[in-house]
Amino acid sequence: MQKHYFSEGLIGADWCTGISLEVAPDGMITRIETGAEAPKGAVVHGPVLPAMPNLHSHAFQRAFAGLAEYREAGASDFWSWRNAMYHFARHMTPEAVEVISSALYVEMLKAGYSAVGEFHYLHSAHEDHSLVMSEAVLRAADNTGIALTHLPVLYQASDFGGEPPLEGQAPFIHSTDEFCRFLQILKPRFSGRHKLGLTFHSLRAVPEESFAPAIDAIEALDMKAPIHIHIAEQTREVNACLDWADARPVEWLLKNQPVDERWCLVHATHVVEAEWRGMAERGCVVGLCPTTEANLGDGLFPAHEYVAAGGRFGVGSDSHISIDAREELRLLEYGQRLARQARTVLTPTEGGHTGEFLWRQAAKGGAQALAQPIGELKVGKRADLIVLDKKAPSFAGASYAQIVDAFIFAGQPNPITDVMVAGNWVITGGRHEKEDEIFGRYRETVGRIARLMEEEGA
Ligand SMILES: [Zn+2]
Repeated sequence: MQKHYFSEGLIGADWCTGISLEVAPDGMITRIETGAEAPKGAVVHGPVLPAMPNLHSHAFQRAFAGLAEYREAGASDFWSWRNAMYHFARHMTPEAVEVISSALYVEMLKAGYSAVGEFHYLHSAHEDHSLVMSEAVLRAADNTGIALTHLPVLYQASDFGGEPPLEGQAPFIHSTDEFCRFLQILKPRFSGRHKLGLTFHSLRAVPEESFAPAIDAIEALDMKAPIHIHIAEQTREVNACLDWADARPVEWLLKNQPVDERWCLVHATHVVEAEWRGMAERGCVVGLCPTTEANLGDGLFPAHEYVAAGGRFGVGSDSHISIDAREELRLLEYGQRLARQARTVLTPTEGGHTGEFLWRQAAKGGAQALAQPIGELKVGKRADLIVLDKKAPSFAGASYAQIVDAFIFAGQPNPITDVMVAGNWVITGGRHEKEDEIFGRYRETVGRIARLMEEEGA
């Protein structure tokens, strides 16, 4: 049994001082005391918060982030970005996936994310190869200490109605039978802090008849396994869905699939009132990725109405244009402020601190979406937490209740000093012990891919 001491922190919904935390060998919190005095000589850490789950990641895209900010002649939108991304994806070997994922996960840990939902569609066409690619991601998680919820993606079509896949989509494809077998092969590899779930890429990529067998397959392995889907990210997708089924994407999903608390609807950007009310009633989580959604010009999810109706949400870094939970939450709130010309929009009308509300809700929603026992510092939850540097200038003058507000809205540079996952310190003094080696390999690998792509283009 380990014991850790913190000067102050967010325990459940309350700020407490003199915190001692007992953690069992399996990483679970077994006892919390407040108002406690640390024994002489014990290390007392600074303010502690629950770590943030990152509910939506395509790890390989990190190496492409920032490289598509150039305007070619003609249209520049989500779909032209996607073509460039497919070109890049062709160069992803299992080794490259492991190297890029490892660097990404170190960056995530340093930014306060302790768990990641890997929405993994880079399977590379064959069943054997699919396993090798998933194992590369798993090794990156083991190597860095992050908790992984692996979400292999079922991808079968290029558009609604089962249109055949495009050439660039070949590495993503499985038949339904292959995919169900693949889940069975993967399952024994996931235990402890790593979980296995299932993802439907989108309504345009999965024909209706493939949903039920895939859900049966994952339920046979784990009745509580998370189920994710990209939905209603782009208006073109909404219009195509209306042409196909005379229903909007979320409307169709709620009507035809068993959407419940296991489900995470990623983006859900373009929804009308009946849809966001339906999502809130089902208890699913909306997976918002504000920096990617802004980067790709997706649109604004009606977060204000949805959250006011009790809707659950979490955040993800998706394309990894930014790896910072605070920036996701800040942009989520700022999008609503700009659209409404108002302040503290997502805070409940009875009042409260915006930053603290956003951090607590996103941590809980993200934990639900990843089926990880985290998101709150509480007995029975896992010890996934972050420690802040109270001496950072942004915290000057902040009362306890203002610490998270200052952390999210004014905390530059990153004031996170230490990060714990399942009772293990993975970041200490702002550093990961393997970061020099991991970032070195990353620079080498991504540099090589860039040179290859340049030669191809020449
Ligand atoms: Zn995505």
